[in-house]
Amino acid sequence: MELYIHIPFCKRKCDYCDFLSFGGREYYSQNYLNALCRDLKRYGGHTVSTIYIGGGTPSVMPLGFYDKLFECIRENFLILPDAEISIEVNPGTLTPAKAVEYKRVGINRISFGLQSAIDEELQALGRIHNYTDFLKSYESARKAGIQNISIDLMAGIPGQTEESLKSSLSKVCMLHPEHLSVYMLIIENGTPFSDLYKEHPEAFPDEEMVSKMYEMTIDFLAKKGYEQYEISNFARNGYSCRHNIGYWKRVPYLGIGLGASSLIDDTRYRVTSDWDDYLKELSYESEEKLSMKDIKNEAVMLGLRMKEGISYSALAEEFGEGFAGYTIARLGKYAEEGYMEHDYDRFFFTTKGFLVSNTILAELME
Ligand code: SF4
Repeated sequence: MELYIHIPFCKRKCDYCDFLSFGGREYYSQNYLNALCRDLKRYGGHTVSTIYIGGGTPSVMPLGFYDKLFECIRENFLILPDAEISIEVNPGTLTPAKAVEYKRVGINRISFGLQSAIDEELQALGRIHNYTDFLKSYESARKAGIQNISIDLMAGIPGQTEESLKSSLSKVCMLHPEHLSVYMLIIENGTPFSDLYKEHPEAFPDEEMVSKMYEMTIDFLAKKGYEQYEISNFARNGYSCRHNIGYWKRVPYLGIGLGASSLIDDTRYRVTSDWDDYLKELSYESEEKLSMKDIKNEAVMLGLRMKEGISYSALAEEFGEGFAGYTIARLGKYAEEGYMEHDYDRFFFTTKGFLVSNTILAELME
């Protein structure tokens, strides 16, 4: 089983963000820790192969928070000796002392939300850090002994060009991180960016430009030794994110914390997103047993996100030859149109296909 822990705290909200997170609530950190420990105890008893602490900004939590949190985790779960244990970190909030704490509690992978190595682009996103802050934080993580580091970048930032993205990629590659994620900016309703986009769409790179950025990124990173293993994820050999691969392969996971979801025995559980309810009492707000149709759809949709795609034999083994044959036959038309490729047993997206994967996956849903 995999374990996810949600930390919904941020210093302040970024202009494009619609994640479940809140700025300026640090004074609740002890109450939140108590609630997490309460739920770790309640849902404990499992062996975990990966742990992912995501947010929000997990690195805003005060020193000592993760000492206590990991004490609670270890009291209630068995962590496999080779477990991948990741934390998301924002550059402006990681101090050398926090990096040492992370290493001490067993965290062995840090994912930095850098987004861009160009300060003007960071300002456009409403981020609290600049590139120099990031360099300091990166150094703190390495000095603390973290040997597996991922850096997030973004394509589609207002004012960004193909050249400036290339410059960001080039700067971060010089640091030799083990892993990179490059996400395309999504303009979410209700964020300051959606208002900006309505008034000034010209401030954003257009769709054609973002497609070019994406193609350039794949090319650039391949030359630097980073293999694409999912739509937005690239890794040096052996450093793909095991936790996320688990999601795409439908490994059971337990989500702890505000708004977290879990998948256990093909049942999806969701924790309440109401802050007061969560701190007061609990816990799982909804429970939905997935139908066989949902499970098949998920297997196809999540499998195709990965560069390795889906295979006839794996689908046949899990769902029978009828479903496997039917699915593969439907993918044939996308291969003819250049959106997919296939080898003997396997269908997977091309770069052109990844660019429109949302539309194709929606078409494939039944
Ligand atoms: S730091 Fe991340 S989670 Fe927090 S507001 Fe910014 S984008 Fe959202």
